[in-house]
Amino acid sequence: KNIVVAIDGYSSCGKSTLAKALAKKLHFIYVDSGAMYRAVTLYFLRNNTDLSNHDLIIDALEHIDLNFHSRDYQSHILLNGEEVSEEIRQMPVSENVSRIAAIKEVRKAMVRKQQKMGKSKNMVMDGRDIGTTVFPDAQVKLFMTADPKIRAERRYNELIAKGENVSLEEIFDNLAHRDFLDTTREESPLVRAEDAIILDNTDLTETEQLDFAIEKIRP
Ligand code: C5P
Repeated sequence: KNIVVAIDGYSSCGKSTLAKALAKKLHFIYVDSGAMYRAVTLYFLRNNTDLSNHDLIIDALEHIDLNFHSRDYQSHILLNGEEVSEEIRQMPVSENVSRIAAIKEVRKAMVRKQQKMGKSKNMVMDGRDIGTTVFPDAQVKLFMTADPKIRAERRYNELIAKGENVSLEEIFDNLAHRDFLDTTREESPLVRAEDAIILDNTDLTETEQLDFAIEKIRP
């Protein structure tokens, strides 16, 4: 049977960095589940949809086609055929994604897609509910956390390097707000799966995190 490594945790804890490194090392596929919620959000922002109108959002889901293509262990996402991997990282999406991700029907649709992808291939998937809801039987589950200030600084440096005009405070507030919405929503809230191994990477280098994860996968 194929192997699934589930990586969950708070916003901007380095989940995707570790997931990509792991996928590369193990020759697994990497799937960024957050990119799916982000792409759906981008679709509604582009269409100026009233985000409080859940009926409208649910009806429109059938017009949204998401596809991944994996290159160099990076995850690229296509929204109705268009590559949107860069645009979904920008602040307008970050500011609205957790609202959209709290809608039950949106989650159902994404989870179904994710489960289909994980059926036959060895993969590393990161997100918020991978070890609890998407793949409760995943062979390896990690739950990542880090000091909120460090998380905000890392994300800030990333966005600044891409030429985005953001402040550290704005990032800090956005991460706190998303964590709040993600942990308090009704439908599969962000919570550590009982059998998930905690990885606090506040003081760990990327190599140390990779070594830690590999050791859990291949004891
Ligand atoms: O992982 P990333 O920070 O890109 O995810 C963006 C948002 O998508 C999260 O803050 C969360 O609201 C939502 N998400 C989710 N479930 C997942 C992945 C992401 O609710 N499995």
